[in-house]
Amino acid sequence: MTYPRPSCTPDRLFDILPSEPLLMMGAGPVPLPAEVARANGIVINHVGSTMARVLQQVKDMGLQVFQAPDARVLGVAGPGSAAMEMAICNIVSPGDRVLHVGTGYFSDRMAEMARRSGAVVDQLVFDPSLPQPAQPVVQALEDGDYDAVLMVHGETSSTIVNHHVQAICQKARSLGCLSIVDAVCTLSTMNLAMADWAIDAVITGGQKGLSSIPGVSLLAFSEQAWQRIERRDNPPSQWCLDARLADRFWNQGQYHYTAPVSGILALHEALRLVCEETLPARFQRHRLCSTSLQNGIEAMGMALHVPGPWRLNSVVGVCVPDADTGDRIRQRMSSTHRVEVSGSFGAPIIRIGQMGEQCREAHLFRTLHALGESARHCGMAVSLPRGMAELENGLSLGSPAESVTC
Ligand SMILES: *Cc1c(COP(=O)(O)O)cnc(C)c1O
Repeated sequence: MTYPRPSCTPDRLFDILPSEPLLMMGAGPVPLPAEVARANGIVINHVGSTMARVLQQVKDMGLQVFQAPDARVLGVAGPGSAAMEMAICNIVSPGDRVLHVGTGYFSDRMAEMARRSGAVVDQLVFDPSLPQPAQPVVQALEDGDYDAVLMVHGETSSTIVNHHVQAICQKARSLGCLSIVDAVCTLSTMNLAMADWAIDAVITGGQKGLSSIPGVSLLAFSEQAWQRIERRDNPPSQWCLDARLADRFWNQGQYHYTAPVSGILALHEALRLVCEETLPARFQRHRLCSTSLQNGIEAMGMALHVPGPWRLNSVVGVCVPDADTGDRIRQRMSSTHRVEVSGSFGAPIIRIGQMGEQCREAHLFRTLHALGESARHCGMAVSLPRGMAELENGLSLGSPAESVTC
């Protein structure tokens, strides 16, 4: 038996990667703090006393960050979407009635997962570029006898924030309907109080608000959600995502599957940095950085996609004349300025992330400069000096008032 020979000698990884790293200012993944990167380079035994201590701290810090002292925190080897699927496939059983608050690409993903779990999904679809009202959702909950309601806190795709998560989830709780909230880009970047808001499952990813690596994610279940999970008589068909099996690892020191050790160590450091900074200071840093950047972009002469109060600070959508111009601007930002931002899911916008390490002053100046210079290069009329001055002004004035309190 002969085996085919490789037709070429592969390049070394470090010959493929850019010699000067790109500044990651898109909708995720985001830059890693040094401690997180270091932790990610370590492997330890996936069970045993060292790991037990790490896990205990990850869970304890998770409770703080989810703002839910009585929640059950679990992790999953997988992207934010795996945490999403884990929440949905454990809470939703075949035949359940599920209400879906449709605000864009990621909320549609949640609805699709609920359908695959055998639920009957009613969709309330809102224009992704307009603020969605709470009233139709509350009304639908009252009329519908739902088992679960699905929503996204910050829709990264359309750069819109849902300010009604609290109102919707509290209403759902009063009706015995469990709420599942996607906080992949908002957890630790803006206020989301799982216990006070009566949310039953919150999901997040590593590589966005938490500034950890992609591929290891965290989720939290309320007491009510856990009771429903324990009462199920049919386990979810996804063995890896079965929350009761994951609970063995996360709460009983047993083996489920080999945990993503390095990623959990990275997550430990990411959470520790969040707790060290404290949530209020972190929210304030994100608000100040993002609003200063937004004002700088507008002062430069570019428009923002979403009106002020509904604008998602965690990911900012900047209007461009058409998709092709957007692509050329991004290409130049990347090749000339070494700044990477994201394209869109439809509307002609460029998306700039403001999550975790992205909210640092030096990154903001470099990104705004790259955006302005590249937009000008691609034929847009922009004033770089005005934009940069406005950014500087915003950052040095500090403390913008929170535009919407919730
Ligand atoms: C990025 C993102 C997801 C998906 O996360 P993956 O890690 O890509 O699976 C889900 N919801 C929101 C709001 C996101 O921003």
